Amino acid sequence: MNQTALLFCLLSGLYLALPLLAGLDTMKDANNLSAAVSLPAHAVEDPHSYANPGDVRVRHLDLECEVLFDQKTLKGTAVLSIERVSQDKHAPLILDTRNLNIATVETSPDGARYTAATFTVGSVDKFLGAPLTIPLPETVTRVRIKYSTNPTASGVQWLEPSQTAGKKDPFVFTQSQAIHARSWIPLQDTPQVRVTYTARVHTPRHLLAVMSAENDPRTPRDGDYRFRMQQPIPSYLIALAVGDLSFRPLGRRTGVYAEPSVADFFLNETATTEKMVRATEKLYGPYRWGRYDLLVLPPSFPFGGMENPRLTFATPTVLAGDKSLVALVAHELAHSWSGNLVTNATWSDFWLNEGFTVYLERRILETVYGREREEMEAVLGLRALDEDLATLDDPDEILHVDLKGRDPDAGFTQVPYEKGALFLRHLEETFGRTRFDRFLRSYFDHFAFQSITTADFVDYLKKNLLDRDSKLAARVPVDEWINKPGIPSNAPKPTSPAFSRVEGEAQRWLRNEIPASKISAAKWTTHEWLHFLNSLPKDLDRKKMEELDQAFHLTGSGNSEIAFQWLLMSIRNRYEPAYPRLEEFLTSIGRRKFIKPLYEELAKTPEGKERALAIYRRARPTYHPIAVTSIDEVLKWNNP
Ligand SMILES: [Zn+2]
Repeated sequence: MNQTALLFCLLSGLYLALPLLAGLDTMKDANNLSAAVSLPAHAVEDPHSYANPGDVRVRHLDLECEVLFDQKTLKGTAVLSIERVSQDKHAPLILDTRNLNIATVETSPDGARYTAATFTVGSVDKFLGAPLTIPLPETVTRVRIKYSTNPTASGVQWLEPSQTAGKKDPFVFTQSQAIHARSWIPLQDTPQVRVTYTARVHTPRHLLAVMSAENDPRTPRDGDYRFRMQQPIPSYLIALAVGDLSFRPLGRRTGVYAEPSVADFFLNETATTEKMVRATEKLYGPYRWGRYDLLVLPPSFPFGGMENPRLTFATPTVLAGDKSLVALVAHELAHSWSGNLVTNATWSDFWLNEGFTVYLERRILETVYGREREEMEAVLGLRALDEDLATLDDPDEILHVDLKGRDPDAGFTQVPYEKGALFLRHLEETFGRTRFDRFLRSYFDHFAFQSITTADFVDYLKKNLLDRDSKLAARVPVDEWINKPGIPSNAPKPTSPAFSRVEGEAQRWLRNEIPASKISAAKWTTHEWLHFLNSLPKDLDRKKMEELDQAFHLTGSGNSEIAFQWLLMSIRNRYEPAYPRLEEFLTSIGRRKFIKPLYEELAKTPEGKERALAIYRRARPTYHPIAVTSIDEVLKWNNP
């Protein structure tokens, strides 16, 4: 995620790696399709799932679900097509659930006749939820589960009309990564298990449902929507959103879903999307998912973006108005290769998703916007990594991180993202771009539609790059990169001449050689602004803060990235004129990347903590459960 919709799936056959079969509606066909791709022969241990995919594997899901806004409940029927993969003919099916009300479980040998089955829900673990164990007679191939979600389901956010742009209709969306799919569908919630799926979703008639699947943008609004995902995907990529949504096309196979009142603005921000898809295809091979669309969510979305296949979910806080935040779109698009096509088998391998994606994101930006722009992103990324490394414990600085007994959301630091990307850049600089590009492209082809471990990657890297040139390979300490804390001393060092000029301006102003109004910032991009603010000393007196604010109206900035950085400085330096804006920011945006550091900074002083608690009391009901979990911890919140 971080760092990433749906239509008339014209299924441009050219772009599908999988054979297109006619009439894929039936499960039989879907099963044929998933059988057509290579699947890992064995299961790996996943500390974040109860499932037993080494014995019984779910291959396909048929979901039917009713969206009940008044009860904040999804009422569902999940039909799981299963396959026994081990010799143990008595192994039960073990699924992951969290906070689900299981009504009935039935089993069937053929999908036509169902008989009631016994089942047990085990004890609840704080992070994992509870296992649902279903004994399976040998001949069973389908399991049908009727269930409903709880209003506090960790993967489902219900929004009141007041929390939307249009203010008239409610909105609901899911966020399944990392292990929240189990809070709205009972399934094997481990990324090593891939399923194809179909869904039928019932909503109020005037609202539109969209999913991480084939969607028809011309579908009539009648409250009855059907979807299918023909490529096998991990459970964390199953996604649903329902609201007053309209669609705007961007290109032949790209478009934007958004609330009608913000759709046009977003259209302008993302105008280069089609160009970015083409740039990525040129580098890493065909886009294999048919359409690439974006869904703009209301501001409480806790992430920048979520790479749900075919339909990136995105925060509206990317609406900077100057296209400077297209990096987010590049990131989520890149996941169509790194993450969605080749997937981490467990959350300890998360860097395979995110490190590769940040690397790809920068390559896309370089192709579309040039090297200077790309290097600004790289410098900012390295700075963010350094800041994290300064506070993290050694074990958390390791790419192949151990997350046993912990919430996998705790692994969401800069390490898998930026350290992972730096490692790939090191390989690129050592072996040369041509060779490394060829390697990466073959990597995506080789592991397409598979979930792999860090060991699988290292093995492939050795055979296909390192062992072919031992002299160059000696310069890249692979084990240190993957299994040791910190950054190897010979790691790449991105530099940006544009940033050096910005630093020069900052120094001149700090030494009082020029007033703030004479800082030559007229053509600065968001990145240059962020770098400028970042290069200022942590302590800045009231006069300096005021001077900057008067010259550049930073308190009033509508650019979320700049506003965030300025508000952080304002808390640090007790710059009171920015406090009303701080309160407005924290009560209108739920993106964790912004709100968590602001609450952390506030919590450093007693008066700040008091202010933080007062704001949080109002804002908490509007935040996503994932953000709430984070901020509760920051503020030691136990006030019901
Ligand atoms: Zn990402």
